[in-house]
Amino acid sequence: MSKTVLIAGASRGIGLELAVQYAAEGWRVIAACRAPEQARGWLPASVDVQALDVTSPESIAALAWYLDDAPLDLLICNAGLFGPDTGSFAAPGDAAFDEVMHTNVLGPMRLIQAFGSNVAAARGVLAVMSSSMGSIQDTSGSDAIAYRCSKAAANMVVKTAANEYGPLGACVVSLHPGWVRTEMGGDDAALGVSESVEGLRQVMAELDEDDNGHFIDYRGHRLPW
Ligand code: NDP
Repeated sequence: MSKTVLIAGASRGIGLELAVQYAAEGWRVIAACRAPEQARGWLPASVDVQALDVTSPESIAALAWYLDDAPLDLLICNAGLFGPDTGSFAAPGDAAFDEVMHTNVLGPMRLIQAFGSNVAAARGVLAVMSSSMGSIQDTSGSDAIAYRCSKAAANMVVKTAANEYGPLGACVVSLHPGWVRTEMGGDDAALGVSESVEGLRQVMAELDEDDNGHFIDYRGHRLPW
C-alpha cells in the first residue's frame, strides 16, 4: 500500500517540490495550502490539494475533520514566513512579530496537536521545517531577529512534541533544508530546490527512533540547538 504524506504549506518553494517528488515516487500526497485552486494548476493530478491556513484554528480543524483518523506516514510542517529584516538588530512592529510567530511557532504547534496521533498511528515521521538561523548555539548574525526567534521557538515545539509523540511511536524532528533558491531564500542561495528536497527526502526515509527530538539538515548532519 502506498504511503501518505501531508505537507502543510505546499503552494510554492520547498513545499511544492516536496509534493511533486513524493507524488512521483508513488506516495499519496495531501498538499495543504492557502490557495488550493491555484496550486491545483501546478501540482500533478494525483495530488490531493486541500485548503489550509496554518494561522487559522478553524482551517486546521477542517483538515483534521477531512482526514479523520487516517494514519499519516509523514507530516511536514513546512509553511513559513521570513518577516521583516533590516539587516541588523531591530525589533519588529507588533503586527509583523505576531504574524511571524503565529505562522512559524503556533502553526506547527497546532498542526502537531491536530495530526500527531495520525502520525503515531502509522509509526511515522513528523517533521517541522526549521532553519539553522534558529540555532542558538550556531548563531553569528544579528539580522532577521523575528525569524531567528521564531525558528528557535519552533525547535522547542519539536523537542516537546518529541517527548509526547516519540513514546507513542512517531519520530519528531526539526529539519534545516539548506539555503535554497526560493522566494524566501532568494536568487543567491546555494542550493536548487530539487537538490534540497532530494536530500530532505533521503534524510526522512532513513530516520529511526534514535533521531526522535533531533535537529537535522538536508545532508543528514545533526545540528546544535
Ligand atoms: P517560500 O517563501 O518560498 O514558501 C513559503 C510557503 O509557506 C508557501 O507555500 C506559503 O504559502 C506557505 N505559507 C506561509 N504562510 C502560510 C500560512 N499561514 N498557511 C499556509 N501556508 C503558508 O519559502 P521556502 O519554500 O523557501 O521555505 C519553506 C520552509 O523552509 C519555511 O518554513 C522556511 O522557513 C524554511 N527554510 C527555508 C530556507 C531557504 O533558504 N529557502 C532556509 C531555511 C529554512 P502562500 O503561497 O500561500 O504564501
